[in-house]
Amino acid sequence: MSELKERKEKLFSTMKNGYDRIGEVDLAAMEGYCRLYRDYLDHGKTERECALYSVQLAEAQGFVPYRRGMKLCPGDKVYVSNRGKSVMLAVIGSKSLAEGAYITAAHIDAPRLDLKPTPLYEESEMAYFKTHYYGGIRKYQWVTIPLELRGAIALKDGRVIPVALGEGDEPKFIINDLLPHLGGEQGKRPLNEAIPAETLNILVGSCPVGESGESDRVKLHVMEKLHEKYGIVEDDFISAELEAVPAAMSCDIGFDASLIAAYGHDDRVCGYAGLKALLDIEAPAHTAVCVLADKEEIGSMGVTGMQSAAFDTFMHDLCDSQGVLLRECFENSFCLSADVTAAYDPNFAEVYEKRNSARINYGLGLSKYTGARGKSGSSDATAETVAFVRRVLDDADVIWQMAELGKTDAGGGGTVAQFMANRNITTLDGGVPVLSMHAPVETVSKLDCYMTYKACKAIYEA
Ligand code: MN
Ligand code: MN
Repeated sequence: MSELKERKEKLFSTMKNGYDRIGEVDLAAMEGYCRLYRDYLDHGKTERECALYSVQLAEAQGFVPYRRGMKLCPGDKVYVSNRGKSVMLAVIGSKSLAEGAYITAAHIDAPRLDLKPTPLYEESEMAYFKTHYYGGIRKYQWVTIPLELRGAIALKDGRVIPVALGEGDEPKFIINDLLPHLGGEQGKRPLNEAIPAETLNILVGSCPVGESGESDRVKLHVMEKLHEKYGIVEDDFISAELEAVPAAMSCDIGFDASLIAAYGHDDRVCGYAGLKALLDIEAPAHTAVCVLADKEEIGSMGVTGMQSAAFDTFMHDLCDSQGVLLRECFENSFCLSADVTAAYDPNFAEVYEKRNSARINYGLGLSKYTGARGKSGSSDATAETVAFVRRVLDDADVIWQMAELGKTDAGGGGTVAQFMANRNITTLDGGVPVLSMHAPVETVSKLDCYMTYKACKAIYEA
């Protein structure tokens, strides 16, 4: 090695592609992990389904529902399902909660099209559902792709009927778009205005029943099908949460199968990492907590969002079992706000700042801050916090990188980090870099998925 090269090696950053750094053992474990992650995605296309499947996985590993006042010992595994839409899980540590908990917080809601409370109508002898989009979507991406309907219908008598329509070979649903032959004027509109929200109407049927001359015969046919399957009438839509999601199962991408395409990587890719890591640890020193939150995509509001007191209540209860003050626990805790970041995309290089963007296959992307413009809406972790995480990840042989979401002033984004930090919990953002984030089908790299799992495990065991 030349003397100059040596001097450079000593002082310069040597960020390398993860495939030049990953060991054989990790490489083998990565494939198995990603198969399980794909299963998780295919079982959970809504926050309700993710919450339910997460609980099933946890129970299979010995987790039990937490009951207030329960006596807790080191190694005990408990969870709370918050209204079936978010989950909080803990493995009790050998140290007192006064010394803090090590937390990962991810979200399991994803952008989608929700049905409006009065969704069903017939127009020109075709039946449609009106939708109201949830989260930040690019509306033009949701037309002309097969959709499934998932969610729940709550009846006045207290029963809650889970809904899954369009799975496997079942008929699916679709939103149509103009043909290019007649799309000239539409094509001149800006991308964001070409498909107005009120045109995101899902085609759900076209075959009339009954006698010619009657009105709404297609709508009646749809309602009869729904009644047959679920016993519901039109007014029951009022107390339903039905979500149209892409009818696509996860799949490997590339000749080398190094990537995964799926709906909902944001943020189930971090949610599963935090969950699986928690299921894989036995007796941590600090109590390890995994939060799978709802409502992040609309601001973490509401009773199942990260701003809800449900999390404080859960932690308060755990602290009570040890006679510890919640505020003392929080001030000594650490949280990895585990949420995806934007991966550098050479097709759209103009919105990225190459030196500070997350790159595919460079591992978990840590973000000291997120936000928009002058870091507005960001938690902006302290340098000491970043140093702590650097040490933990390096000691555990985790491949990671630093990341900003795009160029300064090109846009921005937020996570649950600020809401954890507001609780006086030391917090840092970190997650998997994603290509085409918030699209009906998003892409991530297997190496980055697996490294995020390793990172969560390292945090719990720190
Ligand atoms: Mn997210
Ligand atoms: Mn998002």
